[in-house]
Amino acid sequence: MKVISSICELKNCLSGERRKSKTIGLVPTMGALHDGHISLVKRCVEENDICVASLFVNPTQFNNKQDLATYPRTPENDYALLEAARCDYVFAPAEKEMYPEPDTRIFNLGPVAEVMEGAHRPGHFNGVAQIVSKLFDIVEPVKAYFGEKDFQQIAVIRVMVKELNLPVEIVPCPILREASGLAMSSRNMRLTPGQHQKAPLIARTLKESTTFVPGKKVQEVIDYVVNTINKEPVLQVEYFDIVDRNTLQSVKNWEETVDPVGCIAAFCGETRLIDNITYRNK
Ligand code: AMP
Repeated sequence: MKVISSICELKNCLSGERRKSKTIGLVPTMGALHDGHISLVKRCVEENDICVASLFVNPTQFNNKQDLATYPRTPENDYALLEAARCDYVFAPAEKEMYPEPDTRIFNLGPVAEVMEGAHRPGHFNGVAQIVSKLFDIVEPVKAYFGEKDFQQIAVIRVMVKELNLPVEIVPCPILREASGLAMSSRNMRLTPGQHQKAPLIARTLKESTTFVPGKKVQEVIDYVVNTINKEPVLQVEYFDIVDRNTLQSVKNWEETVDPVGCIAAFCGETRLIDNITYRNK
């Protein structure tokens, strides 16, 4: 496995691989890797000749300075995990390498980027589009792997790929969870042991709420989830909505669409967690 921090060096290596007719897959990450990330890497290794994983805490997608400053960074552990997963290239650039000049590009991401995370984290998805478009430009992957934990992010990236006519297939990968059900996240490292014990209530409540379909109305399910989680003093729901899995717009009735998704953001103490679940209504 090669760890590379220079765009030029990575491009040279990858054009060498392409000359040998190797297919290249990409897994973009912000590091502080866990089994969720590694599941993406393993899939990428399986489906491509060459797997590139990027490790870069992208400042332009953080709308909160404190969140950026305290984002966990564990590079040595990340390299060991990636090596064990048989990743071929790790791209770990410095900030100046990715942004020698401020990136002023504004992407036209449409309605999928305006709701939920888009509404609560202004500029977040534009920052995601900035970094992912740069990574696609540098790596030119045939396939790129993204976790369904960031369900809305996948929809936004699909819009970006279409807008820029990029020849890359977006591969969604299932959410990996801790034994408690809590969705794995780099931010889980910031939870105190007490908070870590309470946070699984988010996933447990989402799962329980799927048993109410189609008996309870959509709004009743939303109210149940929000109230159940908010009853736990250390948890505070920022938003919970049940949306169409393609347009990400709110659904009012179960019959409106196939397999809508419940998307949640909730604070556990100071740490903001996200998760989602599919409601099977057919
Ligand atoms: P991040 O480092 O948080 O930007 O995540 C990098 C990629 O890993 C994104 O595509 C995430 O959706 C994905 N990912 C993060 N957590 C999980 C998880 N628990 N299960 C599956 N994929 C995940």
